[in-house]
Amino acid sequence: MSSLLTGLNEAQFAAVTLPPRPALILAGAGSGKTRVLTTRIAWLIQSGQVTPQGILAVTFTNKAAREMLARVTAMLPLDPRGLWIGTFHGLCNRLLRTHFRDAGLPQLFQILDSGDQLAAIKRLLKMLNVGDDKFPARDVQYFINSQKEAGLRSSAVEAIDEYSRQRVALYAEYEVQCQREGVVDFAELLLRTYELLERNEPLRHHYQARFRHILVDEFQDTNRLQYQWLKCLAGGGDRGAALFCVGDDDQSIYAFRGANVGNMRAFEREFRVETIIRLEQNYRSDGNILQAANAIIRHNRQRLGKNLWTDQADGEPIRIFEAFSDGDEGRWLVEELQSLVGEGFSRQDVAVLYRSNAQSRVLEHQLFSAGIPYRVYGGLRFFERQEIKHALAYLRLLVNPDDDTAFLRVVNFPPRGIGARTIETLQDAARHSGTSLVRAVAAVAGKGGSNLSQFLALLEGLRRQASGLALPDLIARVVSGAGLAMHYQNEREGQERLENLDELVSAAANFAAEAAGRHLGESGQPDLHAELVEFLSHAALEAGDHQADAGADAVQLMTVHAAKGLEFGIVFLTGLEEGLFPHDNSLNGEDGLEEERRLMYVAVTRARRRLYLSLAQSRMLHGQTRYNLRSRFITEVPPQLCKWLTPPRVGARVAEPAFSRYFEPSAASRAVSRPAPTTSVAGRDLGGLRVGQNVSHGRFGVGVIVAAEGSGSDARVQVNFGKQGVKWLALGVAKLEPV
Ligand code: ATP
Ligand code: MG
Repeated sequence: MSSLLTGLNEAQFAAVTLPPRPALILAGAGSGKTRVLTTRIAWLIQSGQVTPQGILAVTFTNKAAREMLARVTAMLPLDPRGLWIGTFHGLCNRLLRTHFRDAGLPQLFQILDSGDQLAAIKRLLKMLNVGDDKFPARDVQYFINSQKEAGLRSSAVEAIDEYSRQRVALYAEYEVQCQREGVVDFAELLLRTYELLERNEPLRHHYQARFRHILVDEFQDTNRLQYQWLKCLAGGGDRGAALFCVGDDDQSIYAFRGANVGNMRAFEREFRVETIIRLEQNYRSDGNILQAANAIIRHNRQRLGKNLWTDQADGEPIRIFEAFSDGDEGRWLVEELQSLVGEGFSRQDVAVLYRSNAQSRVLEHQLFSAGIPYRVYGGLRFFERQEIKHALAYLRLLVNPDDDTAFLRVVNFPPRGIGARTIETLQDAARHSGTSLVRAVAAVAGKGGSNLSQFLALLEGLRRQASGLALPDLIARVVSGAGLAMHYQNEREGQERLENLDELVSAAANFAAEAAGRHLGESGQPDLHAELVEFLSHAALEAGDHQADAGADAVQLMTVHAAKGLEFGIVFLTGLEEGLFPHDNSLNGEDGLEEERRLMYVAVTRARRRLYLSLAQSRMLHGQTRYNLRSRFITEVPPQLCKWLTPPRVGARVAEPAFSRYFEPSAASRAVSRPAPTTSVAGRDLGGLRVGQNVSHGRFGVGVIVAAEGSGSDARVQVNFGKQGVKWLALGVAKLEPV
């Protein structure tokens, strides 16, 4: 027992051993919140206060849940069987599978991920003849999810005008469609479970009596519904469960998805929390990194306020690299990685972070070309790839023929002569008779009808072949029997898709091995149906940290959001440019900017020993070249903590506030192999223009050239247009006339 608690500092010790009452641990990054939470679970069990069955722990990602379980297991002599650790979605899925009847769901209900949900909504809008101009599918999706996250069914939403009345009507239609098809989206998982527990008193009491301890990590990112859900499970009053929440208001980064930091205050008030413990010592990062993080977050006004300290040495300076272009940034990254590996660092301990998924393509390309093994977390998730979705759709239809989303995805894939007109006729027939598409096939006449019947026969054939097969064999059979393999063999870029389909078979094999024993049917044989359903849920919920061919020692690539809660020896934070990070979308209001800054704080605090910040002056994104200013977040790091790897440049562009650059000459040598951005303007071919010259521009008027970069057709100049601002313009594109 004592070995469990040794090494904890005083505040951590107090938190781990708190009596079983509601408690809030409010603490900064890397201060040991997750460690406290896992140690408390082990301590509760080991000190005999509760059996593993009495504990429920919630966290945000599957990766975090797996790590949490691993940490707890490692601390205990015996496997803690019966302990529930998972994400909100995962736990809800588990409850709904067990109590599907009470929840009003078919036993084999399927989960729609957000792509499937969007497809389902588009289909609904089309069927109802609702124009995309008035109700874009994405807006409807956002609306429905926000209502669900606020705990509101369509019948409970108040419509204030005609427009909102129509929107609520669409929400109602969507509910009917999902119910008919036996599918639930992510928000529905939560809402349905919440309603189940709210309405079903015996069931609620059962779980309230069972889970005496509920522990929540990353509490700052819970939304309203999740908080209601927790409240419902915990029960109130003196007999309620001990709800133990840990969080950091400075790391709240999901407001855009309805997360509500206010839950912390609500929790404090509603549960009459007597103990709030603050942890202020950071164990993760070296001094310079921590100071940088503190300095950045200090710019935010809406904070509960805390300051982290460490007794670790300052460590290395924060390295900053300003690249000419995104390609240049990627090449530098590769070189730096190669030299790190040369110095003996392991790739696994290196993370490359970015603000948006779209940035990963260039980085991946460079890493791939250089032969550096890498693994992408949560990018285009494995299970979201087109070919995988197709295969899964066939599998879903085997389990649930009424799943119209799956039906429409593959009814004509691979192409089998079923055109849009036939589908429309089928949809009309289904709507008319109030059934799923499968059940309306008989109503379609002619060639289209007979092609549809053949499709049904194909499904029936696959269903027959399925019996007696193991899960991976079944998937392999479906991939070939449905014609997917043949189709991709003939496609130009089909090879990679075929490999991914093979990977799906391996994923199923791994899954089946892990699930072994859980699905024994009456005969003692594995129950394929149950196994397949669980595999499909896994595919919908899995955070996608699955990558073909990733070696064990691979560099880890992910968005900053996905890096929450994790730590790495070395972190590269790329793309620090105004408009990218902070993101364009956030720049309208102070709240948006503060959320971006918290995201920056999360990013910086992932690093233990070394932190690189990089940016590119020009970047190709969504098919357009953008010329960017340096991110204001770079300027918020005190210069004395930084070491610039690139030489100061003429006309260095800086976002507010004014910035004094710190530069160490010795670092310049590191940049030699990149196409050196010229520091002198002399001799540059600017098509007859020069720095200091007055020029006129069609839109911005007259200005003066204050800086220049590149040469010939790549040349760019920075022009001060007075009131119109200071702009960078590519000479090849912008028409500038000397005046
Ligand atoms: P985040 O806010 O990023 O989620 P956190 O507060 O959950 O961070 P942890 O991940 O629990 O922090 O801990 C950060 C690191 O510090 C981990 O490597 C952990 O093992 C280590 N650590 C925590 N407490 C101690 C301690 N008392 N002694 C030594 N190391 C510690
Ligand atoms: Mg944590």
